[in-house]
Amino acid sequence: MEVISGLATARGFAAGPVFVYRGDGDIPVPEYLLEEGAQDAEMQRLAASMLQTRHYLEDMISTLRERTGRKDIRVFECHLMILEDPFLMGEIENWIRKGRLNAEAAVRKVFSAHRAQFGKMNDSYLKERVHDLDDVERRLLKSLSGSSQEPYMELKAPSIVVADDLTPSETVQLPQEYVLGFATNGGSTTSHVALLARALAIPAVTGLGDVTSRVTAGETMLLDGTNGNVTINPDEAKAKEFEHLMRRHRLLTRSCAAGTPAGTLKDGGNVLIFANLHPGIAFEAAKDQGARGVGLYRSEYLWLNHETEPGEEEQYEAYKKAAKFASSLGPDASITIRVLDIGGDKVVRGLTVKEANPFLGNRSIRYLLSNRDVFFTQLRAILRASAHGNVKIMYPMVSCMEELDEAAKILSEAKASLDAEGAAYDREIETGAMIEVPSAALNAEAFARKVDFFSIGTNDLVQYTMAADRGNDMVAHLYQPFNRAILRLVEMTVEAAKKHGIPVAVCGESAADPVAGPYWAAMGVDCLSMSATYMPVMATIFSHLTKSDLEEYAKLPSSLPVEATAAEIQTACRAYIASKVPDFDELTA
Ligand code: PEP
Ligand code: MG
Repeated sequence: MEVISGLATARGFAAGPVFVYRGDGDIPVPEYLLEEGAQDAEMQRLAASMLQTRHYLEDMISTLRERTGRKDIRVFECHLMILEDPFLMGEIENWIRKGRLNAEAAVRKVFSAHRAQFGKMNDSYLKERVHDLDDVERRLLKSLSGSSQEPYMELKAPSIVVADDLTPSETVQLPQEYVLGFATNGGSTTSHVALLARALAIPAVTGLGDVTSRVTAGETMLLDGTNGNVTINPDEAKAKEFEHLMRRHRLLTRSCAAGTPAGTLKDGGNVLIFANLHPGIAFEAAKDQGARGVGLYRSEYLWLNHETEPGEEEQYEAYKKAAKFASSLGPDASITIRVLDIGGDKVVRGLTVKEANPFLGNRSIRYLLSNRDVFFTQLRAILRASAHGNVKIMYPMVSCMEELDEAAKILSEAKASLDAEGAAYDREIETGAMIEVPSAALNAEAFARKVDFFSIGTNDLVQYTMAADRGNDMVAHLYQPFNRAILRLVEMTVEAAKKHGIPVAVCGESAADPVAGPYWAAMGVDCLSMSATYMPVMATIFSHLTKSDLEEYAKLPSSLPVEATAAEIQTACRAYIASKVPDFDELTA
């Protein structure tokens, strides 16, 4: 057994025999001087091959249009544009007419020169476009040489295609019913094989180095496009573990209809599924998993990841990047940037001080209100980033009205300072309160008059309600989201939000819990914000629930004896969801 790591290029899993694809290789390119006066005939030969190539590309576009969406067609539309580029074709004609070169040699000369120019570019996306030129050149040369034999003809059984690299047309020409996955020596996550594999929902791992020389046709390969590795000749235990992964993945993808936004209910209702992100992690996974916005951006990682305190510019750049990313998630997407939440277990050298009870000390908003310069700088940076996307500001660990009033004052000062400089920002920027202290939930009616949204931080809400340190193993059994006290606090928060017409989210870990997440939605929470990896499971669960299921689910705890423990409520809730969602245990294992 051998495991090789590469780039996770198209998500998904595949297991099967290897088919080693040896491409066209180098098509022979004859080069000779034309006899004087033979140029017209050579031009006609070139025109015929261009026409043949054009028909080929048009066929490819219409086949793809039937199979997939617009995105992949663009590759071939781009090839058509190359083919019709008057400048490029003018150069070829020049070589034939003035240089008296045969058509193959003229094509090779011109394409090589352009390829060299693209290859020199620093931009990795543009660099990849060399493959477009390769592909069009190969097509032209092929039709000039009259060759028609395609190497993929030998692929006659479901297999994992292992290749050095694949051009776009090679990728789509492979008979898809037999392609379980792609594993290539070269390539990158932005290469065409990557884009097409994703569009065709075929798992792929690229950048595997010399995988073609490490396998022999017919050997078994396990391909993990989600984590970016392949296993050659797996042992029994590995094969079994992989089979489980594949089954779970099948369950997830089967139930999520393509194009349906994550969080769509069976009967069309909707619960927003947003991502929790922070500086320093790759954002793209959130997009791949269907996030429709960013519900919690933990800004403190800018401090935790760095030796020195980030200044306004550094913060602005980070928030701007995140705001732009969030805008790419859809027309209604937004990003909720939580202001610096340090203290407690988040210790920042030089900023936080040793306290006897750090979780009950100068944490989060309390720290910011006692270090107004830090708060002011951060608010300025967030405001400036709001010019680049739908940004919201969120205050953590609010426990009383004064904190909201004070925060609003500093925000006004930050806005005034930007006004004085004529800087751009969203003047209507929304502000929200995290509900993570019991006093906030009990006071939600009043808080709702002061802010534009709520987000319930169940990690801290459970910690503070149960008086159980969230980081202490000895009291971990008291982490009880289904304790009636927590359910009541969530209910009060949702009621206050509804009464005042503001949205409410849950962004603590329980949002991603397969039993608790749907329960919060049943109680009227509008948005669940969670780590990207949990989104597909949650989306699958919602796709099996209807609005009336949620109404019924909301009433379940109150139908149990009042003295029911959190564990008993949780068990009953789990049984309810499991009865609605096929293969629930497997899905959530
Ligand atoms: C929470 O407390 O639930 C929360 C989301 O905040 P954090 O986990 O960052 O304290
Ligand atoms: Mg918290």
